Amino acid sequence: MDRPDTHYFHVVFRSEGLKGETQDFKLPAWTPGFYQIMDYARNVLNFRAEDEAGRPLTWEKTAKNTWRVRCGRAAAVVVRYDVYAFTRFVAESFLDDSQAFITPASVFMHVGGHLRHPAVVTIKPFPGWSRVSTGLDPVPGRPATFAARDFDVLYDSPILIGNQEVLPFEVLGIPHEFAGCGLGAFDREKFVSDLKKIIEASAQLMGELPYQRYVFISIGEGRGGLEHSNSTALSFDAADLATPDGYKKWLSFVCHEYFHAFNVKRIRPAALGPFDYDRENYTHMLWVSEGLTVYYEGLLLNRAGLFSREDVFELLQSSIQSCENSSGSLFQSAAASSFDTWLQSFQRSGNAANTTISYYDKGAGLGLLLDLKIRHESKNKKSLDDVMRYLYRAYHLERNRGWTDTEFRQACEAAAGASLAEIFEVYAVTTTAVDYPKYLAYAGLSIDVEPKDTPGAWLGAEVRTQNGRTTVTNVEWDSPASRAGLSIGDEVIALDGARTGPRSLDEILAGLKTGQAVKVLISRRGAVREMEAVLGKKTSRSFAIAPLSEPTPLQAAILADWIK
Ligand SMILES: [Zn+2]
Repeated sequence: MDRPDTHYFHVVFRSEGLKGETQDFKLPAWTPGFYQIMDYARNVLNFRAEDEAGRPLTWEKTAKNTWRVRCGRAAAVVVRYDVYAFTRFVAESFLDDSQAFITPASVFMHVGGHLRHPAVVTIKPFPGWSRVSTGLDPVPGRPATFAARDFDVLYDSPILIGNQEVLPFEVLGIPHEFAGCGLGAFDREKFVSDLKKIIEASAQLMGELPYQRYVFISIGEGRGGLEHSNSTALSFDAADLATPDGYKKWLSFVCHEYFHAFNVKRIRPAALGPFDYDRENYTHMLWVSEGLTVYYEGLLLNRAGLFSREDVFELLQSSIQSCENSSGSLFQSAAASSFDTWLQSFQRSGNAANTTISYYDKGAGLGLLLDLKIRHESKNKKSLDDVMRYLYRAYHLERNRGWTDTEFRQACEAAAGASLAEIFEVYAVTTTAVDYPKYLAYAGLSIDVEPKDTPGAWLGAEVRTQNGRTTVTNVEWDSPASRAGLSIGDEVIALDGARTGPRSLDEILAGLKTGQAVKVLISRRGAVREMEAVLGKKTSRSFAIAPLSEPTPLQAAILADWIK
């Protein structure tokens, strides 16, 4: 990285002990945890290969991410290439004159068929940069050099290089650190103390911490987190930590990414490791890996003393709301959403917005059902905690593999001592409406599932206003806007004779009535036309959770043990 302002990493990859006339040098098409084909090979240039003596070796590309080198009898092959890195995102790599962030799957090639081989990485930081933060093990006596047992470990260990601030701390005698450039102004002491509480609550749940060292890597402002075996990459805006609401969101976010060290990195569906880096790795169970991680955010923060019972209810309510109030819940199950996650493009289409759900949200709801059902059926002797501990022990520690869909269900049913067919055969795999009140009642709680009118008249067009132009960004399913023929991309010039721009669409709608027929003046591809929309009334359900007035002793005991 001699010229960070050009955003190119220069990579030298030396491999030894290879046998065969040719070798395939490959760059992954995706990185675990971010279930999209990223085609990192698009950023590679200047690929060349030579033998130990520096004699050039011929090569050809045989696939988008494969460089086949004719190595003959060369005992070692050295390939060199450059990688363009200028996307500041947890699943991409980034290099400028402030810092470097390496998503290893996007930078480091491997030799086809040799993923199990050990790897050693030496970083040559830009002069003046003094820190390298990564979960990889440092090689003693060799500066900025790290070892990985195999390429799965390497690809699971992002690297931050620069002059970042490092906040070190210990939990249960195990070193942890929080590293990031330009972290901004916030109370470091409280921040670290709260992180410790989250880690302690997780260790309390699982019985141990499953690593020798753990690194939180903050890559700067933005949104998104990506979990790894003994680290996590996070982007967030430190200014958000200043408000109580922003701080709560931060706690949920960091708790989520951290708990993935257990759920998904170690407690995992069989499809999620070892990975095939060339193509999609399909599973119907991301609702477990992501949704149950969302579900545990609230529980862990409550056990850590950072969230009240009401805070936990609010989190659950918001997940259930965003899934169940969306038209996507009519079309897509949690299992289908998991399987088809690879189809989600960066730019969500109108089709995706209206006909898909998030397995994070639906999965959190399913986690709630599983936990309460297990607690109810076992007379409050078992819970989802027992399932997590069992899966961790039986599959990760004892068998060192992921579980099948059937094994996951068996583990849940063993804890419940009863059939969980309704959850596994209906709610997880179909779009059948979930009977939340039945399950919440197990903990002596009610949940408000009554559809209620939302204030104002409803058109059902989501818009963006830029430079005085109001453009439709989404047309809600079965809405007045959809029936009137409005489309994404239409510019709304006026509604009911009132010009948009000076007033927002919402402001104009606030003065109109349900059932009223209004003229919508639009411009579509330069042609102005008028449509008529009959304004409707939108209903939504709050899913607010509240205690029942006279719980039975079992209901009261379940609630007391579940959330303090
Ligand atoms: Zn996650």
